[in-house]
Amino acid sequence: MLPIERGLEIVMSTAKAKQRADWMAAETVALLDSTHRILREDILSDADSPRFDKAIRDGFAVRFEDITEVPAVLIVIGESRAGAGADVTINRGQCCEIMTGAPLPPGASAVVMVENTQRLSPTSVRILKAARENEGLLRRGAEARRGEKILQAGRQIGLADLGLLASSGKSSVMVSKRPRAAIIATGDELVEVDQEPQPGQIRNSNTYTICAQVQEAGAQPVMLGIGRDNLEDLRSKIRHGLEHDILLVSGGVSMGKYDLVETVFAEFGVDVLFDKIAMKPGKPTVFGHRGDTYVFGLPGNPISTMVAFHVFVRPLILFLLKAENTSPKILEAKLEAEAKCDPERAALVPALVRFEGGQYRIRTAPWKGSSDLVGLARANALIMIPRRAGVLEPGESAQFLLME
Ligand code: AMP
Ligand code: MG
Repeated sequence: MLPIERGLEIVMSTAKAKQRADWMAAETVALLDSTHRILREDILSDADSPRFDKAIRDGFAVRFEDITEVPAVLIVIGESRAGAGADVTINRGQCCEIMTGAPLPPGASAVVMVENTQRLSPTSVRILKAARENEGLLRRGAEARRGEKILQAGRQIGLADLGLLASSGKSSVMVSKRPRAAIIATGDELVEVDQEPQPGQIRNSNTYTICAQVQEAGAQPVMLGIGRDNLEDLRSKIRHGLEHDILLVSGGVSMGKYDLVETVFAEFGVDVLFDKIAMKPGKPTVFGHRGDTYVFGLPGNPISTMVAFHVFVRPLILFLLKAENTSPKILEAKLEAEAKCDPERAALVPALVRFEGGQYRIRTAPWKGSSDLVGLARANALIMIPRRAGVLEPGESAQFLLME
């Protein structure tokens, strides 16, 4: 059985080999629609930021050397407010009333906040506290210089980035087009969410979790419904699915008599590169490709599907989006209770993690196996248990993926 890392290498090297110049084009979207998308242009600051020396406190703009000895009384010669500066120059013994965000008048070298002053008259103020040079203000260009690269292509656009794009005058932004991922659930036992399962039936949940994972990763889900466990139905669904950038089929890939998905993949000439991974859950994960389509058979059990998606599909989607970082964020925690290892397979197990005493502490969550969505929903992390004999001891450090 293939180790997880080797499987991921195969997925990623297949994607690299397939990459064409025109692959995954970019598109321009309105600023607000760019949130969480992958940026495809470097963003240069269109001006110095800030654009002018500015106050970052409400108070008085002073020459700092005038207030090395306090209290000191200064003459107030004007007012600078946000949006309208004062047309004055601060000379010795003078100051200017100033508000946050207002331009600093020439000559001033510090802003004393109003809390540290006492107004004596319309033209005089007593400064109660000394200020260091450049305290309470930001010099022009302190955050970024005009023409400086402030955001790099490949980055996922976060909230701060959105604000930065807005301040840089970008009302529209170039981002990666979303690859289209077709989703097919398979199984004769499946009914839709709004249906009442008859004896032996269960509701289809994988379509929804996969759909949400596809969206979260930045691709566009296309739901193709439920394929039944017969060649005819699977053929028609998979034929349609192969017209997309990615095809995700859940279920029908284990060793059961009615697990026919791989048979149909073979009929359509899908080049299958692996169909078993030393991973728990998620052993019967299938990966292949045909033409420009990446093809996955995800194990049917709800948790197996989710884990296999996270480990193999998400990095592929991020690669297609030209994201600078394709790997999941792995964190370290201190184990609070023993965790059993498996010499055959590495495991990703629902776990409870909390941050306490300056570090993450983790233990496996109670769960009843790879169909237990109840157990998974109560967990907040997946702990990674290495493939080896024995146990991980309490106090040992363990890696995990945060699920929130
Ligand atoms: P399979 O790999 O098709 O044998 O499926 C393994 C297990 O996962 C079976 O118990 C299925 O009932 C269950 N399963 C398969 N597909 C889904 C689905 N779309 N939603 C929820 N459970 C599923
Ligand atoms: Mg099945």
